[in-house]
Amino acid sequence: MKTYKITLLPGDGIGPEITAEAVKVLNAVSSKFGFGIEYEEALLGGIAIDNTGVPLPEDTVKTCKASDAVLLGAVGGWKWDVLPGHLRPEAGLLGIRSALGLYANLRPARIFPPLKAASPLKDEVIGDKLDIMVVRELTGGIYFGERGRTEKNGDKAAFDTELYTVREVERIAKIGFETAMKRNKKLCSVDKANVLESSRLWREVVTEVAKSYPEVELSHMYVDNCAMQLVRNPRQFDTIVTSNIFGDILSDEASMISGSIGMLASASLGEGTRGLYEPIHGSAPDIAGKGIANPLATILSVAMMLEYSLNEAAAAQAIENAVSAVLEQGYRTPDIYTEGTIKVGTVQMGDLVANEAAK
Ligand code: NAD
Repeated sequence: MKTYKITLLPGDGIGPEITAEAVKVLNAVSSKFGFGIEYEEALLGGIAIDNTGVPLPEDTVKTCKASDAVLLGAVGGWKWDVLPGHLRPEAGLLGIRSALGLYANLRPARIFPPLKAASPLKDEVIGDKLDIMVVRELTGGIYFGERGRTEKNGDKAAFDTELYTVREVERIAKIGFETAMKRNKKLCSVDKANVLESSRLWREVVTEVAKSYPEVELSHMYVDNCAMQLVRNPRQFDTIVTSNIFGDILSDEASMISGSIGMLASASLGEGTRGLYEPIHGSAPDIAGKGIANPLATILSVAMMLEYSLNEAAAAQAIENAVSAVLEQGYRTPDIYTEGTIKVGTVQMGDLVANEAAK
């Protein structure tokens, strides 16, 4: 039997509660689809600071590197907010992404039909189904370019530099095309090539990489237009690939289409198949320990892990179907509860999805 090694980084706040439910669901599909999972738990974030003095211990990096995929809950909390930047829980998060060489961030923005009412968009804009994947470059561009303070015309000034190498664009473009291949084979590359030289290079390289993916329908769009189209006619998009800064903004815009932070999964990928999977929300210290956190974002992150790192697409689909079915049956954690639905806690929601996924 095929066995995968998964590192669990439950982290802080609601992290351990939601990770436990995701593991429950992963175990349910592993039995059904005939593969094994070996788990190893490691420390990251505030809990790592409390136990070892640093947010990302060396042992954690080693364990993650020896695994097929990493599942992260969330890190952070008020207790550690007084520490200097490099010793805060969030430094552990950036550190592990960089130690694993993760340069692509995948964020699905989708609406489960029973939760349509939570979306800020009108029914007729959403239609029957909305399912977009934003692929964002994560380690290049203006966030990592040269920056500084200077003077211009006798006035104080500051600058940041957007710089992309051909190799950096090639590798993110490939992830964009590979992602589109797993979905509806439609890729929209977003840039600002009418103004920026770095965007003109981006467009050239993406167009070149497209030659290796003749099945994928490629389009290009300026970022300002894309921001508008995402709320005007989001159904035109399937997979979007874009730079670090544009992706930062567009993925937040796209994810809010779903209207609910407790539902949103994400994946970070690099060379090879090992990836890091996590909900996009934080450690929610305000509700930690109360048993009311929504575990679905983490459970859906496991579905992404099965699809992108473990190549177990059928098991991934079973989890997505199970989440849809449980929502269809009317079960809701408090954050997505509306009148007439059935309120459940974190553990109950995990049980419901695990049982449904095992059917
Ligand atoms: P947050 O995402 O933790 O919480 C924002 C709001 O959403 C809160 O009211 C919270 O209760 C609610 N919420 C979040 N996830 C939920 C879930 N699964 N179910 C139900 N409700 C949920 O953001 P914040 O309050 O700005 O940050 C709290 C801590 O998390 C901070 O220390 C922050 O630095 C950290 N953080 C970590 C990550 C991460 O680990 N990737 C991301 C963002 C914030």
